[in-house]
Amino acid sequence: MVASEQESQAPFVTRFLGVFVYSRRALELVWTTSRGLTIALAALTLVAGVLPAVIAYIGQLIVDGVVAAMAATNPDTSHVLWLIVLEALVVIAVAASQRGLSVSQSLLRALLGQRVNVMILEKALTLQLAHFEDSEFYDKLTQARREASSRPLSLVNRTFGLVQNAISLTSYAVLLYAFSPWAVVILIGAGLPSFFAEAKFSGDAFRLFRWRSPETRMQIYLETVIAREDSVKEVKLFGLGPRLLQRYRDIFKKLFVEDRRLTLRRDGWGFVLGLLSTSAFYGAYAWIVVTTINGGITLGAMTMYLVLFRQGQSAVAASLTAISGMYEDNLYLSNLYEYLEQEVPTPGGEAKHGPEPERGLEFENVSFAYPGSAAKALTDVSFQIRPGESLALVGENGSGKTTLIKLLTRLYEPTAGNILLDGLDLRNWDVEALRQRIGVIFQDFGRYQFSVGENIGAGDVRHIGDAARWATAAETGMAAPFIEDMPEGYDTQLGRWFKGGRELSGGQWQKIALSRAFMRSDADILVLDEPTAAMDAASEAAIFDHFQSQSDTKMTILISHRFSTVRAADRIIVIHDGKILEQGNHESLLAENGQYASLFRLQAKGYQ
Ligand code: ADP
Repeated sequence: MVASEQESQAPFVTRFLGVFVYSRRALELVWTTSRGLTIALAALTLVAGVLPAVIAYIGQLIVDGVVAAMAATNPDTSHVLWLIVLEALVVIAVAASQRGLSVSQSLLRALLGQRVNVMILEKALTLQLAHFEDSEFYDKLTQARREASSRPLSLVNRTFGLVQNAISLTSYAVLLYAFSPWAVVILIGAGLPSFFAEAKFSGDAFRLFRWRSPETRMQIYLETVIAREDSVKEVKLFGLGPRLLQRYRDIFKKLFVEDRRLTLRRDGWGFVLGLLSTSAFYGAYAWIVVTTINGGITLGAMTMYLVLFRQGQSAVAASLTAISGMYEDNLYLSNLYEYLEQEVPTPGGEAKHGPEPERGLEFENVSFAYPGSAAKALTDVSFQIRPGESLALVGENGSGKTTLIKLLTRLYEPTAGNILLDGLDLRNWDVEALRQRIGVIFQDFGRYQFSVGENIGAGDVRHIGDAARWATAAETGMAAPFIEDMPEGYDTQLGRWFKGGRELSGGQWQKIALSRAFMRSDADILVLDEPTAAMDAASEAAIFDHFQSQSDTKMTILISHRFSTVRAADRIIVIHDGKILEQGNHESLLAENGQYASLFRLQAKGYQ
């Protein structure tokens, strides 16, 4: 549901009610988080709404009591004193209900913050890679996380606040009715124009903010680039800072013009309509005073009515503030719910084994275009690797090598053609079972700010805490020697985010990542997408050999720009622009004297 589109076409009343669009959902959220606290909140809201009228009423009795006592020959002071005690008690009750409100709100805020965050993260676990690569969706995710703890409760509080003020106003109206129904009309009527205006402008602001979310996102991004550890090196050395800051300022200027317009209109109208209600109030004031002088009502009644009017005004003002805050909460909630309700197609397939394991991995006329992109990243790719074979993918940047791996690991589905493992289409495989079979390290592998052991263990969650396996994997991934040199060994905290964290060199991180891939001892497909670029050529070749020699059923797919490693592969595929250009082994490709041969000679020349 996109609230902004819905509202812009809706009639005025619906648009006005737009500030309540998410109130129901926020309430639901709060209710399911803690029923007890929600009931407490509602009950206290009711109490806090009614009591002010009660105080005003007692006030009338006190004044009338005093006047009567002064007129009497034998005054009864105790009656008035009891009324004062009663009023004091009611005031204490108001204070208590307000404390109670604040306690329930604090507790609910903590519970709700955690609940919403968990909901957001749970949803994130079900998302597909494509979602994270979709900028708008990613934006929703970050925004949803940003104010998860405060917004839903704030909307509920403001909604309740409105209700509380409405209750107060109603109770004032009931008391005022005794004076004159017209007084009720003035009290309510004078506030209404401001009320509608505020709701309308809040709605406008809501639409404005939603519509310009891309600019806001750019601003947030610029803040991150300027002020974060991972980009600070380049920002400093390339002198990017002032330029980025200028861009940041320009965006602000543009947005500010719109903001100013809206703010001026909103407050301009607010003032004019406010004048209206102030005049109405003073008109009513004069009327009440004249009626009292003419003996129409008692002095006590006059005091009460004036208090009612004054408090009625502040109730109207408080409602207006609540409404203007509600649009921001709505903004947040619309975003949250769009994120939570994003449909995620669940990848089907239940098979845990294929019928013909000897067929290995096959690509049959596979084509693929990224969602939202017209150009094909892969076109008509066909090849086969049998158990025990190794494949090297060669091609310039952007030729589609990583895309091929993403299809193989089912991070994306082919647009056309089939991929088969053990003679069974990937679509029929159970995703978990499939991923168990594959150990993969991408170019941009994770550098987790955890301990060395967990960084390696992450490769196989079933054994994430198994120190013996870490050591074996680290041995294979050639990380063991430098890990053992560290004073705390596998317990060393990595990265700089946390105290005592140790930063590794690029090559060392790669060895950690490789060891992670080797944690999956039962994986029989190893995919190395240039993870070894920062490693020396000898280590790269050694790792490659090692995996291949481990068993004669394992399959390796290697992406590398180093021909010293590539040449050892059983099969080499040269990709260009998403298409297979050449295919064969080192000797046959050299004999073919095409692209591979020329690239190979180019690199060989560099070493001569
Ligand atoms: P390689 O790994 O060979 O360097 P990739 O497979 O990463 O190349 O990219 C192949 C093509 O697909 C490139 O043109 C790239 O711009 C495009 N591409 C890569 N990732 C995405 C993505 N997430 N969304 C859209 N296009 C993408």
